[in-house]
Amino acid sequence: LDGAYDSGNIFAKILKGEMPCVKVYEDDAVLAFMDIFPQSPGHTLVVPKSPARNLLDLDDDALQAAMVRVKKIATAVRTALDPDGIVITQFNGAPAGQTVFHIHFHIIPRWEDKPLGR
Ligand code: 5GP
Repeated sequence: LDGAYDSGNIFAKILKGEMPCVKVYEDDAVLAFMDIFPQSPGHTLVVPKSPARNLLDLDDDALQAAMVRVKKIATAVRTALDPDGIVITQFNGAPAGQTVFHIHFHIIPRWEDKPLGR
């Protein structure tokens, strides 16, 4: 959890438009796009625009704004895909499973007949 924010991370590049993404939502607070290795159909990432490595680095205003967007986008995913459940996950630090060190939330639709790991 220690260390400085590295502005060369892949989500920073996507936020700057230097790398492509399949965008599903954007406003002043977040950019949301499809996960490149989806754990289920519709797996979406919500990336706050603040340069924070993880949840603990994000200030409270940005966190509140991000969570409202997570709910908004999860609601759109529900409308679009009609899943039986929706997992929201968020990893902090490599030992916790974080691989991209810019704060992000996973929205992962689940269906009763399609179990998966993680
Ligand atoms: P985490 O850091 O929370 O473990 O997961 C990072 C997520 O970002 C993974 O689900 C991975 O598939 C996704 N990811 C990694 N690189 C890219 C990329 O370049 N584009 C997109 N759209 N997703 C990515």
